[in-house]
Amino acid sequence: MPDRLPEPSVRHILGGMKRIAMTRPPLPALPMSGGCHCGAVRYAITARPLAVNACHCDDCKRLAGGPFGLYLHVAKEALEISGGARDTFRRTGGSGNAIRIERCAACGTRMWHLPDVAPDLVILCAGTLDDSRWAIPTSHIFVEFAAADAAAAEDALAVEGFQTTRAAIWERFSEIYR
Ligand SMILES: [Zn+2]
Ligand SMILES: [Zn+2]
Repeated sequence: MPDRLPEPSVRHILGGMKRIAMTRPPLPALPMSGGCHCGAVRYAITARPLAVNACHCDDCKRLAGGPFGLYLHVAKEALEISGGARDTFRRTGGSGNAIRIERCAACGTRMWHLPDVAPDLVILCAGTLDDSRWAIPTSHIFVEFAAADAAAAEDALAVEGFQTTRAAIWERFSEIYR
């Protein structure tokens, strides 16, 4: 892990991002369940996620209404959706790639992003899990836009912009959860 930082366990890095030492909770048993606020849209994740990624870009802040977006990368075939009509909002990211954002049509909860460039991947909003307490980012991107009190686990990948690849983000998750 080349960017793993030595002692002290809390120190400033890019854009105010600090590193904190922690013992990560184990991955929950599968399937993991989740859903929207009103309960109309429900889902189950039937295979290990590929990543827990935090994005600190301004778009994710707006979409989340909070300091960053927190996402599970999930293979599309591992996401079983039940019930509930969904609305789709289509947007073009900073990379120029289009994504579809799906929300519950009844309550507006943002459920997941579907990137055109990765049709087998679901970028699932981690706060919709029935239990998201374990979901501590294994990677952080766009950290130069992170809030002044933002913190990353010391074993997490942290990069400015998207100066990495999806493969590297997934590899870090695999290294952390062997
Ligand atoms: Zn709903
Ligand atoms: Zn973002």
